[in-house]
Amino acid sequence: MYRRTFLKRVSTGVVLSCCGSFVAVGNLFAKVSDQIKVWSAVKGAYIMASKVNKSKEEWQKILTSEQFHVTREHGTERAFTGEHDKRYEAGVYQCICCGQDLFSSDHKYDSGTGWPSYYQPIAIENIGLTKDRSWLMVRNEIHCSRCKGHLGHVFEDGPQPTGLRYCINSVSLDFVKA
Ligand SMILES: [Zn+2]
Repeated sequence: MYRRTFLKRVSTGVVLSCCGSFVAVGNLFAKVSDQIKVWSAVKGAYIMASKVNKSKEEWQKILTSEQFHVTREHGTERAFTGEHDKRYEAGVYQCICCGQDLFSSDHKYDSGTGWPSYYQPIAIENIGLTKDRSWLMVRNEIHCSRCKGHLGHVFEDGPQPTGLRYCINSVSLDFVKA
């Protein structure tokens, strides 16, 4: 008598389900990159700050029409009209949109251009630079690193020690007296 053995072949498919993990990792990175390291004048130290993302409508609710035009539409205020052009009190200039510290009175000087001018930002991490190719010129546009609000432009004709001129719109700034 033969015992017949039947081998049952079971084909097993291995499905690598990794897409879910990638999504999770992607979200994690997104959360981490929402935080940026910036200088805080009050704390005298670097802090982690959350980036600010608002819709056009949200910005319009909290800014005047001139502040909105300059900071969110890359506008420029008329020279010699801004409230901070001739201000030389000790203090810190903050972003009008999100309150981030941007410039210090320690680095302000009279460029004679009619716009508040500084030879350096309060910390390089607090601003961002992009190439601006409008008006048939290539200029370095400056914005707040936290909310992307447009501030002005930087030129290479400033005083020492940097030789740079950060030419900023007054309406992009709020002044906090020291
Ligand atoms: Zn800002």
